[in-house]
Amino acid sequence: MPHSVIKVLKFGGTSVGSPEALIRLVNIVKGESKAGRPVVVVSALSGVTDWLVALEKSSEAQERQGIIRKIVRRHIELSRLVLSHERHAAYLEHLAEEIGGLTDLARSVAGEFRSHGIWAAGELLSAPLVASLLQQRGVLANAVNARPMIRVVRSNAGVWVVDRNQTRARTESWFAHSKGDEVPVITGYIGSTEEGKTITLGRGGSDYSAALIAEAIGASKFDRWTDVDGLYTADPNKVAGAGRFLFLLLEDATTWNEANQLGMHAHAFEPVLQACIPVHVRSTRFPQGDGTLILPARLPHRVERDARSLMAHAQKTHVSQTAAKSL
Ligand code: ASP
Ligand code: MG
Repeated sequence: MPHSVIKVLKFGGTSVGSPEALIRLVNIVKGESKAGRPVVVVSALSGVTDWLVALEKSSEAQERQGIIRKIVRRHIELSRLVLSHERHAAYLEHLAEEIGGLTDLARSVAGEFRSHGIWAAGELLSAPLVASLLQQRGVLANAVNARPMIRVVRSNAGVWVVDRNQTRARTESWFAHSKGDEVPVITGYIGSTEEGKTITLGRGGSDYSAALIAEAIGASKFDRWTDVDGLYTADPNKVAGAGRFLFLLLEDATTWNEANQLGMHAHAFEPVLQACIPVHVRSTRFPQGDGTLILPARLPHRVERDARSLMAHAQKTHVSQTAAKSL
């Protein structure tokens, strides 16, 4: 098979949460398919994980039923708007199965596996919907459950953490055996223990999943698609004059993010920093925009040309201080 550029495209909840967003996603994936091999990672539909968190907490059977009903309705409505009659029917079967499992879990005795199992349901519902829509639009796509790939172990401190080596080996092996002409649509946010128990990676964890996958499969780039056109110096909805970073050094972004200044999952940049993979934060609403390009100081050969042209373009705007010095 000829070498093709592998890109990880991660779509957050709002980028899979409406018919318009889903159509934009299809167009982006189609465009990327022409240039190389896209590997898609998705979050739950916007709002769904919040409902699952409420479901997990609730001790009222009636309240739990109400939440499950809302989750069902959200998926039925969105899938009906975008899928053909036959595809919708097939999706509803999948939905019924997952919701059956979720209902049983919600009724079961409290415990950490109950909690994680409930929180994980949103991504298990979104990935097959996105994959089916891509197929309908002529893209060979397949929903992939990340549980067997992302391996989670208990740390000495007693918390669940990703076992990076096992995850890398499992993901690499999955990718090597996957069909080169298929676009996988992978569930973000979830992994599993050695015993096959589902564990979630913490809120916003789909970015971490995408970064782990990008590292394992040797991606050239990690495109993080959201509804905001990049990273800002402050929340642009709250602070007048907040500026968008045209580019940042990945080393800076990692440090700032660990200090909780970028609002992403605390470990989101670790795997890509180690593997020197550029991250591009982009908006599905404005895909032709520059977004924010987050570049490692040491540019891997495979991205050097693209990165340099973007850097040249970056001189004029809000540039990270360290990045500016290194230009
Ligand atoms: N759906 C999960 C959350 O809302 C994971 C993610 O979106 O990254 O936190
Ligand atoms: Mg989400």
